[in-house]
Amino acid sequence: MTAFPTPFTFSQSSLQDYADCPRRFQLRCINQLSWPAVDAEPVVENERRQIEGQLFHRLVQQYYLGLPSENLSLMANTPNLERWWQNFTNTDMKGLRDLSGIYPELTLSAPIGNHRLVAKYDLAAVQNGQVTIYDWKTYARRPRDEWMAARWQTRVYRALLVQAGAHLNSGNSFEPEQIEMVYWYADYPSEPTRFKYDADQFKRDWSAIEKVVHEISSAEDFPLTEDEKMCRYCVYRSYCNRGTQAGQMDAAEGETESETTFDINFEQIGEIEF
Ligand code: SF4
Repeated sequence: MTAFPTPFTFSQSSLQDYADCPRRFQLRCINQLSWPAVDAEPVVENERRQIEGQLFHRLVQQYYLGLPSENLSLMANTPNLERWWQNFTNTDMKGLRDLSGIYPELTLSAPIGNHRLVAKYDLAAVQNGQVTIYDWKTYARRPRDEWMAARWQTRVYRALLVQAGAHLNSGNSFEPEQIEMVYWYADYPSEPTRFKYDADQFKRDWSAIEKVVHEISSAEDFPLTEDEKMCRYCVYRSYCNRGTQAGQMDAAEGETESETTFDINFEQIGEIEF
């Protein structure tokens, strides 16, 4: 086993890979192995939905950057995009555009041990001393709130905002109680998931992140998961000899959405002091 690359840039998706399957973390995040298997059936529909999900994120980003809604509507030109865009324009999140403290596609980074932790937020909105993290999801099925609560994304995004978000708050770190995270589901527009935050949760989260980063960076090996259900939606199935048939997209709980909606060039992200 070669030495763990240092410094390594961790993200919510690499931590989630490790939680789902240590071998997947190794193949994807260390070896950066491209493997040509599909992650969910039906293939064409899944691929189309992933591309549409990325386009939807770009539409919303451009909306918050100030592009006229009428122009963006013209680009919502498939049934899924049209429906998601319509759902979005019917929400009161539209009004966030008028706030002065609005940060679409915000990237934050903080040191963690000898490594770095990075997150790219769809939107952060600061208003009346509170900050709300918004994350758009184009999942085919609305996941359970408990499932979302346990995702590394939910823990990393809120904790990293405490650690590295002071520049959004006149130079003062946000208190955990000032933070809320909202997952908005484009196909379930009136059923968002909202997660508040508090100091105890923050303490637990940051300590869990430090612990797992230490565990990963000192691991001797990265075993295959014992939970073979994870393999059904994994592109490395044939590589790992864990079957050739992908799971059904409509049976998955969230997993089929591409987590890397926007490419992050980690090396170009300046470290943010905290
Ligand atoms: S196929 Fe299964 S064992 Fe292999 S990387 Fe994917 S989840 Fe892990």
